[in-house]
Amino acid sequence: MRVVAIETSIVAMPFDMGGPQPLFAGQPWDRMEILLVKVETEDGLVGWGEAFGHAAIPATRAAIDCIIAPLVVGRDAGDLQALRREVLHGIHLLGRNGAFVYGFSGIEIALWDILGKRAGLPLYRLLGGAKPAPLPAYASLLSYGGDLALVARNTAAARAAGYRHIKLHELTRAAVHAAQQAAPDARIMLDVNCAWNPVQARAMAASLADDGLLWLEEPVWPPEDAHGLASLRQHGIPLSAGENVAGLYGFRALIEAGAIDVAQPSVTKIGGIGEMIRVIHLCQAHGIEVALHSPYFGPGFLATLHIAAALVEAPMIEVLWLEMEANPFDPWVRPRDGHLAVPDAPGLGCDPDPAMLARYAKGPPTRTGPGLRQ
Ligand SMILES: [Mg+2]
Repeated sequence: MRVVAIETSIVAMPFDMGGPQPLFAGQPWDRMEILLVKVETEDGLVGWGEAFGHAAIPATRAAIDCIIAPLVVGRDAGDLQALRREVLHGIHLLGRNGAFVYGFSGIEIALWDILGKRAGLPLYRLLGGAKPAPLPAYASLLSYGGDLALVARNTAAARAAGYRHIKLHELTRAAVHAAQQAAPDARIMLDVNCAWNPVQARAMAASLADDGLLWLEEPVWPPEDAHGLASLRQHGIPLSAGENVAGLYGFRALIEAGAIDVAQPSVTKIGGIGEMIRVIHLCQAHGIEVALHSPYFGPGFLATLHIAAALVEAPMIEVLWLEMEANPFDPWVRPRDGHLAVPDAPGLGCDPDPAMLARYAKGPPTRTGPGLRQ
């Protein structure tokens, strides 16, 4: 069945993160925004996807509306392999990592939603998985800018909410210690978002070596410096990276350099579910653990649940530690006692609540159909 229309829209929900709200890529971050991609087929099926995200949303949306959606409308919605090859080849001069691949990811996720709905199977079944038990999650705390009292308070609150693994977005050993004291029976991870050059990163890895971190995430700038990252492994802390990696070949470069212990591919960024499958298999073939990157709250998060349930041996789902009053994909985006249930309905298993979409819409949708954009 052919794709007859693609719509992009944004929902923006107020949230409380347990501290002052930060800047994100230089912009004030006071709403949790989701870039939704809705794909319609000629027989009336509708699939939902999500494209990354946060401060990149205006760029990603423009990439979809102006370039990618017109390439996909009119194509066979089930011919995912050929579509991926042709669309990604068609746009590769515009960037192999960034808004265009994020945009394609959102459409590809929606097409998998349609595949599942057409087959009458939840995505985890399409991927070959059995009905999963609720998946363990970890709390991914936002940055408190080095405020140790806020780190301690939110770590203790996350532990009390049932999380046994808690990730900090901080830059200091003091923050790690504050978290460990606040939740002595939790495992702590530290994500520094590429803050250090390799020399600084080696010094920090040496100082953190005996602190029992579950992993140290993206310690090296720039993220494509695979050999700089590999130079930290001598200190024995498990290293994780992948949310900024360009697809299968980006992961191959990290693995060949011996740079990572834990791979973190991101379904809304990397090219969608098909690319996630290939990356997960590559990592498994090299004995690299997989911990999916999922700091989002829409169809990309739902896709992450299904992928983790079907393909990852010991999954642990990343959940941003913040409170939203409501979400169009409730209740599936909310952990209970540190665990997440996986939807059973066909496809991703949850279409957004229309009343919630209307309530939190940020402007009107943009629609691309055959020969028109509205
Ligand atoms: Mg990260």
